[in-house]
Amino acid sequence: MYSLELRDVVKRYSSGGEPVVALDHVDFAASPGEFVAVVGPSGSGKSTLLNVLGLLDDPTDGQRLLNGTDVTNLSVAERTTARKESIGFVFQDFHLLPTLSAVENVALPTAFDPGDARDRAASLLDRFGLGDRLDHGPSELSGGQKQRVAIARSLINDPAVLLADEPTGNLDTETGSAILAEFERVKSEGVAVVAVTHDPLVEEYADRVVELTDGVVVGGVPAEADADADVGGPGDDGVDDARRIRRSTASGDR
Ligand code: ADP
Repeated sequence: MYSLELRDVVKRYSSGGEPVVALDHVDFAASPGEFVAVVGPSGSGKSTLLNVLGLLDDPTDGQRLLNGTDVTNLSVAERTTARKESIGFVFQDFHLLPTLSAVENVALPTAFDPGDARDRAASLLDRFGLGDRLDHGPSELSGGQKQRVAIARSLINDPAVLLADEPTGNLDTETGSAILAEFERVKSEGVAVVAVTHDPLVEEYADRVVELTDGVVVGGVPAEADADADVGGPGDDGVDDARRIRRSTASGDR
């Protein structure tokens, strides 16, 4: 079973003048423990894809599944619950609240839940090497440390899926590599990681690269639904093909 799947999804925007087809019959899937990078030129539909995958926006047509359950047409309340229980988000600019400490930022998604998540937040930060920075504010942390806080926050509810928007965008290569190593650790725990990126480094770490052009997937073959953790292994022809397609079509948007 896939963690997240889109079947023949169309997303059309019709606000203003001419309708825009941002996603044009897109099939997409990410398996547990798989790291998928989504690339493509500006305007190709990457943000739209991430929003639809993250239940932040609904498809105009097609089907969306989360852990095998159809989540195409949920009420706002159902969508919020599904998102909170199953999806973690990491953004390029971290989106940390400046007035909260690191541990408070990590616990923030649980703010309206019963109980106190501080201990869980602290142990997540400890796991990401920030056990001695719990009470530091974002302004007292480096870019890489802030991104690790953001990743810890995305995991506070044990999501099945982690969606990242340019996760290494503002980081130097060394820090970016460290963040990608964290993603490797996250995926090794069975989380499906999907990152929209322009960063070739992310593509190096990804098991599979999906390329979008004008809302159409032009490269990237979904791994088999029942594939084991070895989806990125050298024996998987689909993965090799996907990477090859990417390599041969890459370059325009770097
Ligand atoms: P990318 O993230 O790859 O730059 P987007 O998903 O942001 O691409 O955009 C895909 C297409 O959809 C573009 O043509 C963009 O102008 C259009 N688009 C995105 N969001 C909206 C919106 N809210 N209303 C109308 N058109 C939109």
